[in-house]
Amino acid sequence: MKRTMINDIECEVPVKISGWIENLRDKKSMIFLVIKDKTGKIQVTIEKEKLPHIVEKLAGVIVNSVISVEGVAHNSEYVKMGGKELIPTDITVLSVSNALPITKDASPDLKMDYRWIDLRDDKNRLIFEIMTDMEMAMREYTTSHGFIEIHTPKISAQSTEGGAEVFKTDYFGSPAFLTQSPQLYKQMAMAAGFEKVFEIGPCYRAEQSFTSRHATEFMSFDIEMSYIDSHHDVMDMEEDIIKYTLERVSKKYGQAIKETFGVDVVVPSMAFPRLTFDEVQNILHDNFGLEKKMDMDTESERLICKYVMEKYGCEFVFITDYPTESRAFYTMKHEDNPAYSKSYDLLWKDQEITSGAQREHRPDVLSKQISEKGIDPAHMDSYIEFFRYGCPPHGGYAIGLARFTAKLLGLSSIKDATFLFRGPNRLNP
Ligand code: ATP
Repeated sequence: MKRTMINDIECEVPVKISGWIENLRDKKSMIFLVIKDKTGKIQVTIEKEKLPHIVEKLAGVIVNSVISVEGVAHNSEYVKMGGKELIPTDITVLSVSNALPITKDASPDLKMDYRWIDLRDDKNRLIFEIMTDMEMAMREYTTSHGFIEIHTPKISAQSTEGGAEVFKTDYFGSPAFLTQSPQLYKQMAMAAGFEKVFEIGPCYRAEQSFTSRHATEFMSFDIEMSYIDSHHDVMDMEEDIIKYTLERVSKKYGQAIKETFGVDVVVPSMAFPRLTFDEVQNILHDNFGLEKKMDMDTESERLICKYVMEKYGCEFVFITDYPTESRAFYTMKHEDNPAYSKSYDLLWKDQEITSGAQREHRPDVLSKQISEKGIDPAHMDSYIEFFRYGCPPHGGYAIGLARFTAKLLGLSSIKDATFLFRGPNRLNP
């Protein structure tokens, strides 16, 4: 018999269901099971005297075992859960569980050791159902706007952005690196004439960060687009796709998000405020007494979000035109003021979720900028080569999917929005 999902059970029709035993009460003359699958739960009621072959099969079976039950459901006023009970004709034990090594109150570390059991929790599974929809929305938007999906290599002979935050590995006796982002390759796609690309893929950062927003491996949604006039074109696109994504997610999951996580999904109707880095520094100085700096720290991010929410009523804010010295070598400088770059970050609910920019596509300028960052251009020659045979002006951004989800659902850490978290102290399971 084909399996029926618990939510689809109709009374008085023979069905076969499969799932976990969530609860098992063995009484004098009756056994009551609660069987749970992805869609719901149902009580299975077994009269011991009438069904000895089933009682025999259940010997030694404990909660969290996986079984199939064939039978017929009836409405029952005595059953609280869904008002239905399933009277079995047969059962098959598919997998017998041991006593679980974790409870709901286990430490986060122990839960991580047994992540697959932790993920059985409905709330945890919901996070990944929402993420699926969220990624679908991003794919839907990009593909319907002429973006091509690419999959760039994650092992490379050159490190993407230099610096110490790169994992080195051995590649048949030669050094290789895990890519910190698809940055260089998505730019290559611009030189290839793809015009608009996106990628959803992993990034690797050898950072000893123990924060709620950093992982050593994370999934990034990256886009790159050609023939832009400035980074503002990239921001326009990002604003649009975020509104589209939130709209779609809130339609399908808004109520579940409210009920489960206590968060309202707000689909912004207004344009996201755009403040230059210098304006932000002045605001933080004048309103909160902060010293001016060359980059944003977590406190500055929190305070500027608070300010923007109070002044504009918007959860999002673009901070634009960062000092050139605090951005990567591939960022285009402003022609009239090279100390500032055509770059931006997007902040949402107190935190950076995106970095974006117009890139430098002129090989001679790029080479100069690489030198200015103290990197030997010879080491980057195969990258600079991308731009020597004609390349349109272009720009793009990257958004961390776990960060976006954590903000969407009000989760305290990106760990909760990561199937298996990887951090400096976490490489298992
Ligand atoms: P931060 O300043 O928070 O460390 P970053 O400026 O290094 O981030 P980028 O390299 O610009 O971040 O990456 C773009 C986006 O990728 C970030 O806005 C964030 O959403 C995500 N991201 C970056 N680093 C991490 C990380 N270690 N773990 C999870 N997500 C990350």
